[in-house]
Amino acid sequence: LFAGETLFVKGVVAMDGLPEADRLELCFAGRSNVGKSTLINALTGRKALARASNTPGRTQEINYFTAGAYYIVDLPGYGFANAPVKVVEQWQRLMKNYLSGRQTLRRAFLLIDARHGIKPVDDEIMTLLDRSAVTFQAVLTKVDKLRGDTREKTLEQVRAGLARHPAAYPELIVTSSETGEGIDVLRGVIAGID
Ligand code: GDP
Repeated sequence: LFAGETLFVKGVVAMDGLPEADRLELCFAGRSNVGKSTLINALTGRKALARASNTPGRTQEINYFTAGAYYIVDLPGYGFANAPVKVVEQWQRLMKNYLSGRQTLRRAFLLIDARHGIKPVDDEIMTLLDRSAVTFQAVLTKVDKLRGDTREKTLEQVRAGLARHPAAYPELIVTSSETGEGIDVLRGVIAGID
């Protein structure tokens, strides 16, 4: 799927820093600590590829990687407790500009932590995706943390939440980077994007 080496290109803090739009893009979004870096690493088969930037309050970067024919775009995590208003506003502006302004963006992947389900901040970004007309694929992460009943309840809650967003694909991809569950499904979805 991602033939060749996966390489870090650059971290971007403003629209004028985006690399030339010369290949298809897939972006990954989610609350901080959702398991985004781990999932990107599992997908591309690389160890320690995506750089963790988990320091609240620091300037948030869009991280660009090349992987096969694609750019993999690691969007800055959101939902930090006690994040300064200025940082939140900068994040909102950057996300809005990126999602509505990037012609080569093919699909967004919205990661949701299985332990938390859909949080209000997830709803906010999903609404932004709706308004930007960027179709998104929801991906549940860390499903290995759930057992039996809890798993079914969480899946129900998340599916119901997704149904309220017109830009969401109805299917929810259920994954664990720990056990490898769902990673092939996700790769299959990416392979089917044109
Ligand atoms: P990010 O901030 O979204 O990039 O999150 P990270 O990829 O850095 O992961 C945050 C934490 O969750 C780390 O301690 C990971 O080891 C852990 N984690 C990530 N994916 C999984 C998973 O599928 N299962 C479990 N149990 N833990 C995970």
